[in-house]
Amino acid sequence: MPTLNIWLIDKSSVVHKVVDTCNEIRALMLPCLKRQSYFDDVDVYFPQYKPSPENTDLVVYYLNDGMSVAAKLNEKADAYVAQDQGQTIWSDVGDTNAGKITLHCSEVHVGPRAQASAMGLAKLTVHELMHNKFKLKDALHAQGGLAAGDFNENTKLTDTNAKLFGGALSNQRLQWMDGYHHLSAG
Ligand SMILES: [Zn+2]
Repeated sequence: MPTLNIWLIDKSSVVHKVVDTCNEIRALMLPCLKRQSYFDDVDVYFPQYKPSPENTDLVVYYLNDGMSVAAKLNEKADAYVAQDQGQTIWSDVGDTNAGKITLHCSEVHVGPRAQASAMGLAKLTVHELMHNKFKLKDALHAQGGLAAGDFNENTKLTDTNAKLFGGALSNQRLQWMDGYHHLSAG
C-alpha cells in the first residue's frame, strides 16, 4: 500500500525544531491513518530540494514575514497573513484534454508561538492540510476540534477529526510547486 508523503518547505528557514515538528505532525496523522485503508504509513519531510509530490501528497510552505506565497497562485488569497496563522487556497490553472487542473497551496506563517512549540506548529500545519484535502474554506471549521476556526496547541484532534480527515486522505489534490521558487516577498 502507498505511503502518504507530507513535504514541509521552510522558505524562510524559520523552523528551529525540525525533527520535533515532523514527529508531532506524524503523531497527529497516525490516528487519521487508522480510520482509512488506502495508505499504510505517513512520512513527513523537510526536503533540501524541490520535491515532486505524488497526486495524493501534501505540501506546506513555512514563511515568517507575513507576505503570502499562496497569493501568487490565486490573488483572492490574503496577501498578508498574521503570525501563527495559515491559509490554504486553490486555483484552476486551465483545461487540458485530460480535464481541468486545479492546484492547491497551503502556507503557515511561523511566529513566536509556532517557533517555540513544535506541537503548535504541527497543529497549524494539520489544520491547513485539512483545508487542502477537503478543499473547503471556512466550511471546514464546522467539523470542530482541530478543524475549528479557533484552535491552539492544546486543542485535541478529535475522533471525528480522525475519521473525517482519514476518509479524505486519498483525495487527489495536486499541490502547487511553483511556490518553491517564489521568495515570499518577491
Ligand atoms: Zn481554517
